[in-house]
Amino acid sequence: MSTTNNVSVPAATRRLVANRAHYTCEYCLAEDADSFLGFEVDHIISRKHHGSNHEANLAYACPDCNRNKGSDIASIDWENREIVRFYNPRTDIWAEHFRLVNGSIEPLTTNRKSNR
Ligand SMILES: [Zn+2]
Repeated sequence: MSTTNNVSVPAATRRLVANRAHYTCEYCLAEDADSFLGFEVDHIISRKHHGSNHEANLAYACPDCNRNKGSDIASIDWENREIVRFYNPRTDIWAEHFRLVNGSIEPLTTNRKSNR
């Protein structure tokens, strides 16, 4: 289990985040009810990078997405050897980044490594 998450996010805030997301993973749209594994409150900007526990920095995430397994939600910054999210559910619109194709999620945004 991730050690950077579930650190002192108050229960009331966790409930707010879960409610706001309609108990759906904000990255892959899996429903909490489908999972026997607990969904988690994810820090969009990790605490390691001084992300806060404020609700604006929190997203509801299934265990897979929370562990950054999905390559569709992140890429690796090789300079810092860290995983970088390119989709922020607080500020980005899901449909601008992904689409559903035959029941699976395809990214519309490819990695941004050519940005510099
Ligand atoms: Zn997910």
